[in-house]
Amino acid sequence: MSGVREELCCYGGKIAQARLVAGAGGNISAREGETVWMKPSGLALDEMGPEDLCGMDLATGEQRKGARRPTSEVNMHLGIYRVRPEIRAVFHCHSAWASGVISAGVVMKPMFAEFVNDLGRTGTVPFVTPTTQELAEAMAEQAKTCDTIFMVNHGVLAVGLNMKQAFFRLCVVEDAAKSLVAASVVGTPRFLSPAQCETILGLDAVKHRTKMAEDGS
Ligand SMILES: [Zn+2]
Repeated sequence: MSGVREELCCYGGKIAQARLVAGAGGNISAREGETVWMKPSGLALDEMGPEDLCGMDLATGEQRKGARRPTSEVNMHLGIYRVRPEIRAVFHCHSAWASGVISAGVVMKPMFAEFVNDLGRTGTVPFVTPTTQELAEAMAEQAKTCDTIFMVNHGVLAVGLNMKQAFFRLCVVEDAAKSLVAASVVGTPRFLSPAQCETILGLDAVKHRTKMAEDGS
C-alpha cells in the first residue's frame, strides 16, 4: 500500500473535518514520482479510501491506476505540477468564508502573522468556468509565481512541498477570511504593512517554522 495514497486520504478527512468543503466539493492530489494521485469524482473527501484514488501519469495525463473517474479538475492539478516540479501536493476547496470574501471582490491581505508565515506568495485568478481547460491554463500560469491562489466566485487553491503545507495554507486562508469579516463588522480592518511583513519573515522563529513546513515535519 502506498504511503502517499493513505496520507492523501488522511488529509481528505482533515479538510472535511475542518469544514473547508461541503458534500463532494473540492479536490486534492499528491505527486509520487511521475504519478499524480487524485481524488475521484463524486466522492466526498472523507469517504474515499486509497483504493478509490486515481493514479494519473504526470506527463501524458493518462489514467494508470484506479477504476474510478478522476476529479473533473484533473487538468488543473496536472497543469500545476508541470509548472512547479518541486510541488508534491495541490489542494483545492470551496471554503465558505474565504469564497465569500474573495467573491465580494475583496483582496485578501495580511492581517496577522500566519498569513505572512504560511501562505507563501498569494495571487488571484478571476472567474473562469470550473472544469474547463481555460481554468486549468489560468491556474497553471498563476501557480508559476504563487503558492496560494484566491479564485473569484469559486474558492481557494494551495500548493505545497508536502500535504501538510498545502493543508495549513487552506486553513490559514479560511481563518484570515473570518478575521477580515469580524474586523469589518466591528470596525475597519487594519492590515500589516509591507515593512511589518518583512520584519515577521526575518524572525528566527518564523525561519524555523518555515523550514519545518518545507520538511513536512
Ligand atoms: Zn472548485
